Amino acid sequence: MSTSREQNLKGKVALVTGSSRGIGSAAVIRLAEHGADVVINYLSSEKLAEEVAEKCRSLGVRALVVQADVSKYEDNVKLFDKTIETLGRLDIVFSNAGIEHWGKPNEVDEAQIDKVFNTNVKSQFFTAQQAYKHMNDNGRLILMSSLAAQRGFPGHSIYAASKAAVQGMVRCLAFDFGPRNITVNCVAPGGIKTDMYAESAPKYIPGSDKMSEKELDHTVGKWSPLGRPGYTDDTSGIIALLASPESQWITGQTLQISGGAQMT
Ligand code: NAP
Repeated sequence: MSTSREQNLKGKVALVTGSSRGIGSAAVIRLAEHGADVVINYLSSEKLAEEVAEKCRSLGVRALVVQADVSKYEDNVKLFDKTIETLGRLDIVFSNAGIEHWGKPNEVDEAQIDKVFNTNVKSQFFTAQQAYKHMNDNGRLILMSSLAAQRGFPGHSIYAASKAAVQGMVRCLAFDFGPRNITVNCVAPGGIKTDMYAESAPKYIPGSDKMSEKELDHTVGKWSPLGRPGYTDDTSGIIALLASPESQWITGQTLQISGGAQMT
C-alpha cells in the first residue's frame, strides 16, 4: 500500500505504548505512513496488535510487536531492550497506554487508586526512564494526559488526578531531556471515539446512561465549538506533528487536542 503522506520520519524508529487499539493504534499507523519503523505495544490484545503491525508493514516499514505491561518497570526494560535489539535505534516515543476510572468517592478503594496511578502515572515515568536511556539525540517524547485534568466531571477525580500529574511531569522532563535536544510534551484529548469512550463516557456524563450513541455523541460534541466528538484521525495527525522535525521549538507543553472543549 502506498501513502501520500510526507516521508519526514523515514529512517526514524517510533515506539507507541498501548497501540493495539484506539488512539495508540491510529497514531502508530500514522507514524508509519510518515515513513517511521514502528514498535507496537499491547497488554493483552495480541491479535489486534499483530493486525496493526501488518497494516504498518504494508506501508513499507518495519514493525515490531511487544507485549509489555507498562505499569511495571521490568516490562518497560523489556520493551525498550527489544526495540533496540531488533530495530537498532529509537527516535520517537509516544507514551499513550492508560486506563479510565470513575466512581463516586464512597465507591473508590485503595486498590483502584493504585491501579490507576500505576497505569497512568508510574508507567509514563518508567517509559520516560527507558526513553532517557535509549533515545537518540534530537528525539521526541510525547506523554498522554486528558481533558479531564482541566475540566471537572462527576466521579472522575482519580482519573483526573492521574492525568494532571502527567502535565507536571512533562515540564520537568523537558529540562532533563533538553540538553540532548529531545522535546517532551503531552497531549490532552477530549472525548475521542474509542473503546474507552464507549465504555466510560456513559458512566460520568450525567443522564447519558439513557442516551443512544447518537445522543451521547451530540452531548460530547457540544463541548466543542466544532460541534462533534473527536476521532482517532483527529489525534493521530497531532501526534505526527509533535513527532516531526517541524515541532523542534515546542517542549514542556500540554497540547489540548479536544476541538476547543477547553480553552486557556
Ligand atoms: P483504549 O481504546 O482503551 O486503548 C487502550 C490501549 O492501552 C490498548 O492498546 C491497551 O492494550 C493499552 N493498555 C492499557 N493498559 C496497558 C498497560 N498496563 N500496558 C500496556 N498497554 C496497556 O483507550 P484510548 O481511548 O485509545 O486511550 C488511549 C490513551 O488516551 C489513554 O491513556 C487514555 O487515558 C487517553 N485519553 C483517552 C480519551 C478518549 O476519549 N478516548 C480522552 C483523553 C485521554 P490492550 O488492547 O492489550 O488492552
